[in-house]
Amino acid sequence: ERERETNTTIAHVYRGTFVHSTPHTALQILEDALLGVDTEGKIAFIGKGEELNKLSQSCGFSPSEVIQLAQHEFFMPGMVDTHIHAPQYSYAGTALDLPLLQWLNTYTFPVESRFKDLEFARSVYTQVVKRTLRNGTTTACYFATIHTDASLLLGKITNDFGQRALVGKVCMDINNAVKHYKETSEESQEETCRFIAELLKKKYPLVKPVVTPRFALSCSADLLEQLGAIAKNNNLHIQSHISETIEEVNVVKKLFPDSESYTDVYLKHNLLTDKTVMAHGCHLTDEELALFRETGASLSHCPNSNISLCSGMLNVRNVLNHKVKLGLGTDVAGGYSASMLDAVRRTLDTSKVLTIQEPDYCTLSFEEVFRLATLGGSQALSMDDHTGNFEVGKDFDALRVNVAAPEGPIDLVQVDEPKILLEKFLNLGDDRNIVEVYVAGRKVVPFE
Ligand SMILES: [Zn+2]
Repeated sequence: ERERETNTTIAHVYRGTFVHSTPHTALQILEDALLGVDTEGKIAFIGKGEELNKLSQSCGFSPSEVIQLAQHEFFMPGMVDTHIHAPQYSYAGTALDLPLLQWLNTYTFPVESRFKDLEFARSVYTQVVKRTLRNGTTTACYFATIHTDASLLLGKITNDFGQRALVGKVCMDINNAVKHYKETSEESQEETCRFIAELLKKKYPLVKPVVTPRFALSCSADLLEQLGAIAKNNNLHIQSHISETIEEVNVVKKLFPDSESYTDVYLKHNLLTDKTVMAHGCHLTDEELALFRETGASLSHCPNSNISLCSGMLNVRNVLNHKVKLGLGTDVAGGYSASMLDAVRRTLDTSKVLTIQEPDYCTLSFEEVFRLATLGGSQALSMDDHTGNFEVGKDFDALRVNVAAPEGPIDLVQVDEPKILLEKFLNLGDDRNIVEVYVAGRKVVPFE
């Protein structure tokens, strides 16, 4: 039993099964546990059910207020989507027939240019925040578009719904295909500074800005350098894309002849820090992974997107062996599903395809992928000091899962042990099983 040294009072106490990960254990199961959340939304104590009377006295709550989970229910940490394009939600589930660079020119840029229209932005951004929250994404790392005011609106909407988020105004001063969807380098820098200042001024407790160069092919060297400086001066997160397709890697090589690798392009411009998350990395070399490890930068694995756009398959085992931080991402809309449960399944699928190709490959287990979707994502976003699992002192970001939810997708034929319930939920479950979602202790699903 652990307790938090605190003067705050207990707001809620839950009793039942809790499943989560630690850095050392991919899946830890706490059966008949008691977990208390204080009025600040932090986990105040975790104990055993049999200690109810003692804990109620020492922590100051009434045993009659304890919320009891059913046998086919459990709490798990909220899922962390480390890479999602909010505007692209408007065409999710379509436009999956072209490789990356043509896909951007044909579908993405024309749609993103429409987000100058704040009412269009409001409608799409409200939909994507609600959809991801309902599906258990308690933290999302969003790309918006180049439009500062629409990006600020995304920040407001995530705050209004209570989702934890990093929000990035996209920066791009090169676009030869859709010429009206780009900025000058100066505009991009100025608008990034305005975006950061105005978002921070709102003092949203769970929403922070992230410096967002789209990727090396959309940004001049001058812009990359300035964005690196802006991130450093403001101690901000950074997000971008890297080594998604072979074609992209080859074009980067041609455009940046002085850099030793794609990773070196970002490194040279101070964009590889311990608060950087790069999407994809399918085609990174071991030398490049070593640079990620040294700088503390992380990768977002987006398997639905990587397969849908025929980009490649990230060797997650190799990334983990290099001790590079890694989380999962939906990459809507290159990935067609906004649900992190889909990201879990596609991660397992990709690992199994790699095993088919190489029978000695050490396939990822569902427990490991569960950790990647939760604690791994928090680590990748450098938020694991206050989110990612159930530790006393951390924020209570959690999903109440009912595996036997009425009208749900899972039929239980017997009383299964928690590990089986979790495996069934990860493989078969959907938002009908996610009956409540909590972010920093606040119940954000069902919507008020
Ligand atoms: Zn992306």
